[in-house]
Amino acid sequence: MTGLFFQWPLPYFVEPTQGFGERPELYGPDLPGHDGIDLPAAFGTIVLAPFAGRVFETEAQARYGHRHNYGIHVRVEAEIGATKGSSGRVYQVALGHLASCCVEPGQMVAAGQVVGLVGNTGRVWPAPASDNPTAGTHLHLSLRCAGYGAAGWPFDLVDPAPFFKELKWGARVRENGQIS
Ligand SMILES: [Zn+2]
Repeated sequence: MTGLFFQWPLPYFVEPTQGFGERPELYGPDLPGHDGIDLPAAFGTIVLAPFAGRVFETEAQARYGHRHNYGIHVRVEAEIGATKGSSGRVYQVALGHLASCCVEPGQMVAAGQVVGLVGNTGRVWPAPASDNPTAGTHLHLSLRCAGYGAAGWPFDLVDPAPFFKELKWGARVRENGQIS
């Protein structure tokens, strides 16, 4: 789908440190590579909902007592592009490794609404340590499009980059994990 752009999830632009499909050796065999984009940001930076929708899920490891790879994360889901007579596509964005989230499942959020704060919960590298409690801090963003996942990817995952006009290189989708 061309011309569909989402709200940038941070209050300023940063170049991603890792793109979709990179480092297959780290994520296989379950995934063909990194399942989203990583954005560097200072611990505590506000995280913004990329589009208006319903909070599908939040997860705080302290509350549930186990560690999801994304740590504390928020998922927002919305049907986008519906017209009279035809349904749109259902997108779900995940924002991971948060320090905290400030929305609840089922809640409606606006595009650009603050949903949490950047952190380093879950599986991050380097792992936080007592002498460096903010090590590994970044925002992970992954995107699913129900029924329209990228070829070879599970869970309807797609490359988020083309959906953010800030990413000038976003059009260069890397099907094979290589930067073209
Ligand atoms: Zn990531």
